[in-house]
Amino acid sequence: MGTKKESTVPNPVDAPSAKLQLPVEVIGADLYGQQFFERTRTQTIHRDGVSILLVNTLAPDSEVILRNPETNEEALAFVVGQSREDDTGHVYGLAYLHPPADPWHMQFPAAHAARMVQLECKGCHSVRTLALSSIEVEIFEATRELTHPCKNCDASRTWGETSRNAIVKEPGKSAAQNPNLRSVVSPIEERRKNKRMAMKKVACIRFSGVEVVVACEDISKEGFRFTSHKEYPEGTRVEASVPYTKSSTNIFCMSSVVYCHKMPDGQFRHGVNYTRTRGSIGWDP
Ligand SMILES: [Zn+2]
Repeated sequence: MGTKKESTVPNPVDAPSAKLQLPVEVIGADLYGQQFFERTRTQTIHRDGVSILLVNTLAPDSEVILRNPETNEEALAFVVGQSREDDTGHVYGLAYLHPPADPWHMQFPAAHAARMVQLECKGCHSVRTLALSSIEVEIFEATRELTHPCKNCDASRTWGETSRNAIVKEPGKSAAQNPNLRSVVSPIEERRKNKRMAMKKVACIRFSGVEVVVACEDISKEGFRFTSHKEYPEGTRVEASVPYTKSSTNIFCMSSVVYCHKMPDGQFRHGVNYTRTRGSIGWDP
């Protein structure tokens, strides 16, 4: 890059984000479920996330671990979008899953009012007004899109700009009495809320005749994730029942572990894909 900038502890900045190339180690699974470790640099640092240049390709709803190699401090972050791509790699916007995470000890001024943007889910076309965090504003300004969970789709989806009006559709709320009332949710808050809701769901993993009940997250039509003390290496074929209810009839389906990575707490995070349509009876061994 020909920059003379040294990688030192940054000074306090008086902007909501800073263009700073600081070393970062990224641990995650790529678009194909392959685990990777990559040393790279941040492009911008925000109060609520970072943008980084990455050679590996991330899935739109990926989560990665970001580590500051100078202190070994880590933060879990999820992809909010990709602002550009060139010969050197992809620039991804990553928001901290548990803010205020701050592996680089940046000092930002007091938070500004969140930017409100009306977006439409490209899956089900529902419209919502979202309060964007600073890293999300960066991605949105570059691409006019964001990755954000959709309750209707029950999955992460791409949301784009729209001129249609957002309408609250939550049951029990007086949407009919207030048809112009807009639903305003911060994507991070919603993701965390969805996470908590999802964490209550359990799955049962059957492997070598042994059944283990695990907490699972990010359940979609294609699969789910779970964390356990036991390691199921990538490629392991398991049978999975999701959601699982004890003392009830549960349908298990053939699945395979698409990635497995060790978390800082010693547990293993697994991504599981169903290898057959859920609920099918009989499968190839
Ligand atoms: Zn949707």
